[in-house]
Amino acid sequence: MTSAHTHHHLTDLMPVATPRGIDHIVAGVSTSDGDGVKLTRVLQQTLQQRLDPYLMLDAFGSSNPGDYIGGFPNHPHRGFETVTYMIAGRMRHRDSAGHEGLLSNGGVQWMTAGRGLVHSELPEQEDGLMEGFQLWLNLPAKDKMREPWYRDIQSAEIPEYTTPSGVQVRVIAGASHGVQGAEQREHTEPLYLDITLPPGTEFSQPLPDDHNALVYAFRESVWIAGSEVPTRRMAILANDPGSDGVHLRAAATNHSAARALLIAGRPLHEPIVQYGPFVMNTREQVTQAMHDFQNGKLG
Ligand code: FE
Repeated sequence: MTSAHTHHHLTDLMPVATPRGIDHIVAGVSTSDGDGVKLTRVLQQTLQQRLDPYLMLDAFGSSNPGDYIGGFPNHPHRGFETVTYMIAGRMRHRDSAGHEGLLSNGGVQWMTAGRGLVHSELPEQEDGLMEGFQLWLNLPAKDKMREPWYRDIQSAEIPEYTTPSGVQVRVIAGASHGVQGAEQREHTEPLYLDITLPPGTEFSQPLPDDHNALVYAFRESVWIAGSEVPTRRMAILANDPGSDGVHLRAAATNHSAARALLIAGRPLHEPIVQYGPFVMNTREQVTQAMHDFQNGKLG
């Protein structure tokens, strides 16, 4: 919270009159990916329809280098976007188009795979804490074969604001109470907030009732509509017709600030066919992606 040039102070927050409830709470599964990176897959393939346009959410966090040191060596992607948010640690990214960047404490790498690329994501540290999230955001059918694109968003480039009650909000994507996030997308309208709630504070965020939404608590717990979302749990928010947003609260008895991701988006309502790092609309398109990768056409 040190990026003074993008820090906004709000005096007037739009109220949420009819907040959403929780549909259900998800623990995720422990797994490993890449070269033995231990992580929790919070949003799994079975939830892709429910959380359309989101395809995956991985949470990683460890101080044991053995859990992350192998990183993610060269691998392909086609048909969607990856959004990697580093809470702590450093990761070097290189891709087949010659792009290279360093993702570090509080920064985001936003990559649109489009028709495809091959890249690596490798830790640039030999010890210490590595913590963060990787979110996969689908592309509309018409954009799945677009040119690849990426942007490294340094921590200081992520707009932040503090509410009158002291809640700190980082706006990675979309807009929150008039503060435009670092990235915007037309079709999926992603909202991606990192919200820090000191003990006893509350926060409301307007949301269209047909946008799918999740809250992932990663420090302490947060309360939504009378239910607790424990640490390292994802709440899938109900799409209550006529609801106008979500309300988060941190218990006054918490010893330290709660922190949660709020992620929402407009569903695409298009067929989703995934095979590993390829997410397309039909089996034929996935087969084509595998064929193109094997023939070196992804980079
Ligand atoms: Fe990747």
